[in-house]
Amino acid sequence: MLLGCHLSISGGLEQTVARAQELQINALQIFSHNARSWKMGALKPDEAKKFIEQRQRGRIEYAVIHTIYLINLASPDPKNFQLSVQALKDELQRAGELNIPHVNTHIGAHMGQGIERGLERVVEAIDAVLASPQAQRASTVKILLENSAGEGTELGATFAELGFVLRHVKQKERVGVCLDTCHAFAAGYDLTTPDGLEKTLAELDREVGLKRVALLHLNDSKFPLGARKDRHEHIGQGHIGIEGFRLIVNHKDLREKPFILETPKDDEQSDPKNLAAIRALRYDN
Ligand code: ZN
Ligand code: MN
Ligand code: MN
Repeated sequence: MLLGCHLSISGGLEQTVARAQELQINALQIFSHNARSWKMGALKPDEAKKFIEQRQRGRIEYAVIHTIYLINLASPDPKNFQLSVQALKDELQRAGELNIPHVNTHIGAHMGQGIERGLERVVEAIDAVLASPQAQRASTVKILLENSAGEGTELGATFAELGFVLRHVKQKERVGVCLDTCHAFAAGYDLTTPDGLEKTLAELDREVGLKRVALLHLNDSKFPLGARKDRHEHIGQGHIGIEGFRLIVNHKDLREKPFILETPKDDEQSDPKNLAAIRALRYDN
């Protein structure tokens, strides 16, 4: 099983890999820089090389960069739109340098333009990003679009909205999807019963294609089904619950995909506990 969590890079990339090894995980998600700032300094010359070496030694088989939260690929504000496009280009470059295959991003919010217009903006943004020299240099890196909880005017709460973007971007082979369990549940997709999960995955397959789902974010939800609230909870302590996660992590169409936890970090024991909860659920353990 490919399993890991989102880890802070505040102590440097090197410490992040060390922490991953302590947690005995083989998958990792990071921000490539301060997630609340547009500014991304260049990597130090040996930083990328060290990270790649350490990752190999540490047997971290899968890694993904999560983009900063400021990005809104649908922004109606030209300045903000440009900053968002630029930030995504920078992340692709960074991923290329670090030999990381995926850049995961929230697609953004339409801010009153309406869903259609918002999604068209997202397509425009992704086309611009992938046509850039940076994206061409980082030619093996893919963009993953994460489903949202549908707070406010957030786009991507339905699989049909993600599907719209996937069908309209020019470079389809470079765009995939990340399924966040908390977001899906909050958006009204039931994952807690065999029947609910099958229906959810059938819709995901129809609108997106299961093959294009490259990553799962495993988060329980503080709020009930369809609440449209993006509040993550520890595995088994929220409204998806332990039996929901048992179904999810063992499902034949999901079990081979990388699983990344973005559960709350109350203290040092939070990550080990949530990882242990998932490991205990797998039938092949
Ligand atoms: Zn996310
Ligand atoms: Mn997520
Ligand atoms: Mn979230």
